[in-house]
Amino acid sequence: MTERKPAEIARDAFKLIAERKQLPSPENYEAAYHEIAGTKARASFPDEALRRVALSLPAHDTELAKAVAAVESAITQHNWAAFRNTLLDYVSKVELHCSEQPPTKATMDLREQVARLVEHALPALDADDERFARQVAEVVQVLRNPSVDVASVKQAIANFNLRLSFVGEEQGAIRSTLLHLLNLVFENISALGIEDRWLVGQVDALMEATKPPLNLKRLDDVKRKLQDVIAKQTEAKARAIEVQAQVKFMLATFIERLSLMTDTTGDYRHEVEDFAKVLEDATTLEEIGPALQEVLSATRIMEESARQTSSELRHIRERAIQAEEEIVKLQGELDKASVQARLDPLTGALNRRGLDEAFAREVMAARRKGSNLCLAMLDIDNFKLLNDTHGHKTGDAALTHLVAVARTSMRPQDTMARYGGEEFVILLPDTGIDHAVEAMQRLQRELTKRFFLQDKQRLLITFSAGVALLEANETPEDAIKRADHAMYLAKRAGKNRVFAAS
Ligand code: GH3
Ligand code: MG
Ligand code: MG
Repeated sequence: MTERKPAEIARDAFKLIAERKQLPSPENYEAAYHEIAGTKARASFPDEALRRVALSLPAHDTELAKAVAAVESAITQHNWAAFRNTLLDYVSKVELHCSEQPPTKATMDLREQVARLVEHALPALDADDERFARQVAEVVQVLRNPSVDVASVKQAIANFNLRLSFVGEEQGAIRSTLLHLLNLVFENISALGIEDRWLVGQVDALMEATKPPLNLKRLDDVKRKLQDVIAKQTEAKARAIEVQAQVKFMLATFIERLSLMTDTTGDYRHEVEDFAKVLEDATTLEEIGPALQEVLSATRIMEESARQTSSELRHIRERAIQAEEEIVKLQGELDKASVQARLDPLTGALNRRGLDEAFAREVMAARRKGSNLCLAMLDIDNFKLLNDTHGHKTGDAALTHLVAVARTSMRPQDTMARYGGEEFVILLPDTGIDHAVEAMQRLQRELTKRFFLQDKQRLLITFSAGVALLEANETPEDAIKRADHAMYLAKRAGKNRVFAAS
């Protein structure tokens, strides 16, 4: 049979409707069309019945009303697949709705009390931890929101509790270290009866260390520095007090001698006056004899006393000069102790304060000259392991060794500072990034050559480093951050390598 064209089928369908005297409705036309074409008529879509069902679906909130509207739209489109999907969606929404019992008033009251407990506990913790603050805000919000179910509230509280235990522990440790630090300062002040100069240095360091956010590692570093400076100052001060006591003793002797001398000259004057009187009254030489003897012996005593006094005076003067020299020397030592407030006592490298000052100077010089300034951030690899295996003392010696090797391998104009525990910053003026990276690699090679001896054991120290070139208008802090990040990437890439910062 030849395939008939749709236009022919359509025409014959109209004829059939006319023959049967049917109404030319779309349904009648569709049926006639299929009859002529010999195809199966589509089952008609039960709009009416389905719409009635849709209308009877409960829709007491906007979510459910939206789901019912979707069902109705599928009916309108005569789309069975969409009808099935929208209906399933509606059912799942109803199920959800049923399972979500709104919390009772008593539950919400309890949740409010817990939220307040969390809020009130916050200032007491004084935690300068952004993540913790966010978690607090989150848990409080969850507690107060009635639409958040119990399981989610439980989870939020569990997360919060975990973080709270960390924060609590850290706060406890910080507090005890701070107290210890304060004790050290007070001990120092009372032991020294301190002059302003010393006080300023100590108080500066303390202020610096207690700037929020507090950090245990930083506090620990400052504690060690302070202990060292205090020890040096105490020693110097004790000796200064001793010298002062000596000078006082000499002055007292000097005054005593002076008064003794006037006493002697007084006696002598009396002798001479007496002799003058004897001379006046004397008529014979025999009469003068004994008086003359007395005057002569008084003169001898006077001479002897003058000689003794002058030699004692000379001696005192010498000792005074010596004491003065000693005081000048002590002053120098105290000044050195003040410099040490800028130096790391263990390694002799600059400390953070010294680095800040040196960095500011180098930045100024580089900007004035329009030259490059690079900085490298070094962190010793696996240092904790070294400490754990060989002891803290060996760890300390390794730090000193690194600084000593760096000193010989770097140029005199380069500056080395201890940035933290086992982290160092090296400033490289007049150096481009490539040369700075090379300089760090040279230091790495130098360290492998000059290994570090401990109890006749050769220990190899390696470090990872990040190098950054200070950019125009960049702050030292930002450049340090970039170098630190590059150092972190060097660690991640397997350690013992040098990366340039982007
Ligand atoms: P990484 O290779 O990833 O840098 O690991 P690491 O072990 O070097 O680093 P981590 O930060 O885990 O450990 C650093 C250790 O340095 C922990 C700390 O006890 C120790 N430390 C910090 N300052 C000093 C110090 O002055 N002397 C000694 N001996 N150890 C210190
Ligand atoms: Mg480190
Ligand atoms: Mg390290």
